[in-house]
Amino acid sequence: MPVPPPGKLLLAAAVLLGAALAQAAQPSDHPATVAAPPLRTVAAHGPLAVQLPTAEPGGKKAGVKKPPMPRTDQRTGVTPPRPWSLPGGKVLYLTFDDGPQPVYTPKVLAVLAKHHAQATFFVLGREAAAHPALVETTRRAGHRIGNHTWDHPMLTKLSPARLRQEISTGVRSKCFRPPFRDTNAHVAAVASSYGQHQVLWDVDTRDWEKPGVARIERALIRGARPGAIFLMHDGGGNRSQTVAALDQALTKLAEQGYAFRSLPC
Ligand SMILES: [Zn+2]
Repeated sequence: MPVPPPGKLLLAAAVLLGAALAQAAQPSDHPATVAAPPLRTVAAHGPLAVQLPTAEPGGKKAGVKKPPMPRTDQRTGVTPPRPWSLPGGKVLYLTFDDGPQPVYTPKVLAVLAKHHAQATFFVLGREAAAHPALVETTRRAGHRIGNHTWDHPMLTKLSPARLRQEISTGVRSKCFRPPFRDTNAHVAAVASSYGQHQVLWDVDTRDWEKPGVARIERALIRGARPGAIFLMHDGGGNRSQTVAALDQALTKLAEQGYAFRSLPC
C-alpha cells in the first residue's frame, strides 16, 4: 500500500478526532443507535468476577476520562457496575423485581420498547416457573434476567441449607438480588458459589408503596445520575402506577441525554 503524504495523514487524524469529539459532545438520547459493547471480566471483590462493558474505542481519542473504579459496598461486598461505554456516561440501569407477572410485565415491556430502553428483571423462581413464556419474551426483547430467589424470603433468617435452596432454585443468571435487601457476607458468598454476583440498587423508587404516579416519576428524575441503578417492581401487586410513571420519566430522562441499559447479568 502506498504511503500517503504526511499532510494527508494529519488531515485524516483531524477528521477522526473531530468525529469523536462531536460524538462525545452529543447527548445519547437514542440508545438503539449505540452498539452493545463487548464484555470484559474484572475482579470485583475477592474471588468474584463480573462482566463489565469495555471502554469504547473512541473514548481515548475524544479525551473522555474513564470514571474511577466504583466503590465497593463494605457491608455487602457489592461493587456496582458502572457505565464505561458511553461518552459522558449517561447510562441508567432500570431494574424490575418480583415478576414475571402476566398483567404488568407486558405493560412494562411495552413502555421500555417505546423508549428503546433495556432493563434487568430480577424474577422469582416460582413465578418464572409459572410463566416461562413471559421470561422468554423478556429475554427476546433484549433485556436481562436476574435471580431474585425462588420464593422471596428474608435470606439472613434461613438455615444454611434453606439459603442454598432458595438461591439455587431461582433462575440461572450471573446476577442475584436478595429480597428486602436482606443480605450479609454469607448470603453474598453463597450466591457467588453459584456464579451469581449480588446486585443491589442506588435508588429505591418506592413504587411498591403505590405512592402515586407523580412521586414515582419524581424519584426516577431526581435519582438520575450516570450509572445509577433504580429499583422498581413489575410483580407483587398492582403496578399500574409504576407503568405510568416509567413512561413519563423515560421521556424526560431521554431528553436529558440518558440511555437505559441492562446490567451485565
Ligand atoms: Zn422483591
